[in-house]
Order: sequence, then structure tokens, then C-alpha cells
Amino acid sequence: MDTNKPDINEIADRVVNAIMEHRLPPGIKLAEEKLAAVFGVSRTKIRQALTQLAKDGLVKLHPNRGAFVASPSIQEALDLFATRRLLEPEIVRNTIARAGKAELKRLHQHLALEADARERNDRRAIIKLSGEFHMLLAEVSGNGFISKLMDELCPLTCLIIALYDAPNTPACPEDEHTRIVEAIEAKDVERATSLMLHHLEHVERELNLDGRAKPDIDWDRMFG
Ligand SMILES: [Zn+2]
Repeated sequence: MDTNKPDINEIADRVVNAIMEHRLPPGIKLAEEKLAAVFGVSRTKIRQALTQLAKDGLVKLHPNRGAFVASPSIQEALDLFATRRLLEPEIVRNTIARAGKAELKRLHQHLALEADARERNDRRAIIKLSGEFHMLLAEVSGNGFISKLMDELCPLTCLIIALYDAPNTPACPEDEHTRIVEAIEAKDVERATSLMLHHLEHVERELNLDGRAKPDIDWDRMFG
């Protein structure tokens, strides 16, 4: 057996990465034969990886047309943020209660990566790292159930940002992650949870999710 060939999880992870970096846009077709050629594996393996991603809602499978990157609706986007507003204050509380030196160190290492990506103005890395910060926080918070949910919700959030983002706005506003980690380190539950909620509101507010953003063209102003 060729051990260099990626397994199903590895293929799925790489597709998730491409989605999180906005290299694979929402709604695009994921052609089995192309992916099979790129990864150097059988179409069966590709199909299994795509089925796995479909379970997490990142990929939509159509019986006759094949697989597509998901394209969440405005209602799904609103529901997703509502879910994150429920989960993430709990994540912050758990992190304060349970995280030790090693976990805090991992958070700081991540913040350094984010700062570096901003320094380099590497938008793909910024978007991906922004999402991963929330996944890492969930992981170090020690609640495995929530962590599993966040591993699903964060890549979906990246898709939503790709779909509904106003041009050139950052995925997560600069420095807000740093302030959350500072409040966690200070064990200030109230401040850390309120910073997290404000942060999620900021991210959501940057998106065009009020429905009015859809073609509401003022023809008079445009051509009058
Ligand atoms: Zn964030």
C-alpha cells in the first residue's frame, strides 16, 4: 500500500482548509474525477471524504449533479450566529475555570500567528486563523461536546463570511481576540464573556444579513 496517499480524513481536512481560506467559494462544484486526480486517489475515496463533509453541512450532495460546497442561506447564517452566541460564553467560562499554563500558551502562540498574518497582510491566512482561534478556544475549554460543535460551526462561518461579507472587511476585527485572551488570563468571567459576545456581534454586523443587501438598486441614483 502506498503510504503517501492521503486517507479520507486528510482529504476532508484539506478541503475544509481550502474552504476556510476562501480558496473554494460557496456553491462551487467539487468534481470527483478532478479531486481524485489531484489527490492521486480513487473516486471512491473522494466520495467518502465528501460524504463525511456533507454530514457537517459543508458540502451538499445532489443525487444526479454531484457534490457542491454548501451555500448557507441568510436564515442559516442568522441561526448559526445565534448558536455561537449560546456556545461561546460557555467556552470562555470553561476556559477560565479549566485552562492551565499550557493551554494559555497555545492561545498566545495562536495570537502571534494571527498578528504575523496581519503584518504580512495575508488575507487567506487571516481568515483561516480567525476561525481557528474560536476552534482552539473551544478545544482548550475542555468541553469535548462543544468543541465538536465548534469544529462544524467555524468552517461554516467562513463560508458565510465568503458569501455575505462586505468587501475587504477582516474576518475577525483586529485585537479583539487578544483582549478576550487577556480577560481569560485575568480570570474576569464577566468581562471575557461580554467581550466574546461583542466580538460575535461585530463579526455578524459586518455581514449583509438583513436581506436588504440583496439587489435593492436605486436606479434613479445610479443613472439619474
Ligand atoms: Zn473571532
